[in-house]
Amino acid sequence: MSRSNTAVKRLFKRDDARPAAARPVGVTLKSARELQAMRQAGRVVGKTISSLLAAVKPGMSTRDLDELAAAEIKRLGGQPAFLGYRGFPATICTSLNEEIVHGIPGKRLVREGDVLKLDVGAVVDGFYGDSAVSVCVGEAPPRVRELVETTRLALEAGVKAARPGARLGDVGYAVQSVAEAHGFSVVREYVGHGIGRALHEDPNVPNFGTPGQGLVLQPSMTIAIEPMLNIGGWETRLLGDNWTVVTKDGSLSAHFEHTVHISPEGPQVLTAREEV
Ligand code: MG
Ligand code: MG
Repeated sequence: MSRSNTAVKRLFKRDDARPAAARPVGVTLKSARELQAMRQAGRVVGKTISSLLAAVKPGMSTRDLDELAAAEIKRLGGQPAFLGYRGFPATICTSLNEEIVHGIPGKRLVREGDVLKLDVGAVVDGFYGDSAVSVCVGEAPPRVRELVETTRLALEAGVKAARPGARLGDVGYAVQSVAEAHGFSVVREYVGHGIGRALHEDPNVPNFGTPGQGLVLQPSMTIAIEPMLNIGGWETRLLGDNWTVVTKDGSLSAHFEHTVHISPEGPQVLTAREEV
């Protein structure tokens, strides 16, 4: 899942009068024990995504994928992270075509040629993992394949830039550069986030930025980097279900995400999976 950029800005007003439990969690550094739990959560998420990718085929409903994910997360010893999060009604997010993120699984069937986004989160021992992939179901035109592949490469570039001592602007710039070199736009209204004891912690991790600007990344920080790229413009619209985010111009969108530990030696992907 990604964080709403505008809503979060509102949350950080100094006169935040909400009770402590309702305020956003700040930037946290993780202990070795906490990182171990996050590795477990990341493993559950990675394996669940692998199972989903192996299973997806035209004619399946997005609910079929949700049920498979629920069974996998349970079998692997985790709990779903999204179910019940602010009232989200399913285990995973399934977003199709112009849907960018936070699509709700249901009766809709996955069809040949669809761009399907699967976003999976799990909790183990109170710690979270969050990861997403996009896939072209069956045949798709070259430009659509390029969108999906470029989004994957943009994530890879963002992860590489997430070294201790680098700044968030370096990560955002790395993602944005890959996207724009291929003529795709980067969603601005939803962003990556810190992650750990909560699904969404500080800081916000935008997929755009200026090198050398923003928070300095420190060892033992854990962040979710999640580029969302559109074939058309970057503007978004929220559907009437209050969850599904779509491109305002109806153009296709792709999304990839990993949970990353900023280790002293460099970025470590906690939600890695064996390539399918
Ligand atoms: Mg996610
Ligand atoms: Mg996320």
